[in-house]
Amino acid sequence: MWFDSHCHLHICEQEAPLADLIGRAEAAGVHALVTLGTDVASSRRAVAIAHEHGVHAGVGVHPNDADTWSEDAAVGIEAVLRDDRVVAVGETGLDLYRDEVPVDLQRTAFSAHVDMSKRHGKALVIHTRNSVLEVLDMLLSEGAPERLVFHCWSGDEAALRRALTLGAYISFAGNVSFRSAGDLRAAAGLVPRDRLLIETDSPYLAPEPRRGRSNEPANVVHVGSAVADALGVDPEEIAAATAANAASLFGLLGMG
Ligand SMILES: [Zn+2]
Repeated sequence: MWFDSHCHLHICEQEAPLADLIGRAEAAGVHALVTLGTDVASSRRAVAIAHEHGVHAGVGVHPNDADTWSEDAAVGIEAVLRDDRVVAVGETGLDLYRDEVPVDLQRTAFSAHVDMSKRHGKALVIHTRNSVLEVLDMLLSEGAPERLVFHCWSGDEAALRRALTLGAYISFAGNVSFRSAGDLRAAAGLVPRDRLLIETDSPYLAPEPRRGRSNEPANVVHVGSAVADALGVDPEEIAAATAANAASLFGLLGMG
């Protein structure tokens, strides 16, 4: 049984009916997923999807949308955060690769998400792009929440050690399966088995052998198989470990 720890069903549903997508995921053995909003409206939609389809949601304003962060946005996110299908705050963080949103706005939004994660006791889902050191510095100075994950990991070994020291889970996305991604597969080998997560980030980053197409939660099996290959273990072992880890991260007791 597999757990897709990070996807965006509110974007996927623009291309395909969610019932089909979730049916294919179940048929592939994916028994749980967390769908994340990227602004206030899509966070509300993520919560509705969670109720409609028996999945879980994360709510927040993505760093690439941080120019929409405001007091009203904070109130909007806090309101949906209380829902019992919501298990995470995010995704949030800093994106210094796509820098259309001024970094001070991204920092303000990230800081507010860290605070909400702590106050509500819900996992923090972190996005970094060319920014893992800046994010680590902010978490160190503000205090990391008890439960957090770096989604779509892309840092080097020193950054990985720092993230693990903060108590973070480390999640690998479809790019871990790309032929050129030897460094990511090496990183997966350095993550303690009880901190390892996998995700699709659907509809983005489809793994091999579906690279270039629209991604969907069923493909987390390919992500997990790529990680299993890199570690020289059975895919079932990665499925079980990552599902149990996701359940602990998101506070879903009795799962995995
Ligand atoms: Zn994402």
